[in-house]
Amino acid sequence: MRMVLLGAPGSGKGTQADLLKDKYRCAHISTGDIFRRNLSEKTELGVKAGEFMNRGELVPDELVIGMVKDRLREPDASAGFLMDGFPRTIPQAEAFGAMLDELKTPLDAVVLLDIDEEILVKRLTNRRTCRACGKIWNLLSIKAENKTVCPECAGELYQRDDDAEAVIRNRLKVYHDQTSPLVSWYAKIGKLYTIEASSSPDETMAKIQAALG
Ligand SMILES: [Zn+2]
Repeated sequence: MRMVLLGAPGSGKGTQADLLKDKYRCAHISTGDIFRRNLSEKTELGVKAGEFMNRGELVPDELVIGMVKDRLREPDASAGFLMDGFPRTIPQAEAFGAMLDELKTPLDAVVLLDIDEEILVKRLTNRRTCRACGKIWNLLSIKAENKTVCPECAGELYQRDDDAEAVIRNRLKVYHDQTSPLVSWYAKIGKLYTIEASSSPDETMAKIQAALG
């Protein structure tokens, strides 16, 4: 199985990536991991990308594409892959398509985890972090009556600035602005599977499997 996974912050993308990777025995390729590895191993592409990152600039498409290409040539990716965080733009998607044509490994599916925005906002604004142990909790799933302290170490729970509603709404807007052209593009070429993802991780996984057949 060769697929791209798309989903907003809070959509459960990380959880689904883990489940899908095990189910389809494919390599989970996340751009975050690729970046970190190229930077720490000081590859040619990593060194160049690092210069842009140090200046606080976006890493150009050609460098990102080069790193993805190197990653796809590794043995574990030949059995299939799950792309997470790439492509992000239409030029990246076009380059990705050309890369897969070259490797003769066409994409099977683009899975979009779709959740109502208000549900996402509710999920994300209920996140709390423990001041003592750093663990992240969700008020919606803490069973203890006292929801102001960490269920594990009784440290104080607080809301990080990143989890404030205005910040969350802005992140979701950025995500939608960036992703909707890609979604239309993959829909047009018949690769898109939109999965309603507000239910439990197992139910969402079952929907994905049913859709992919
Ligand atoms: Zn704690």
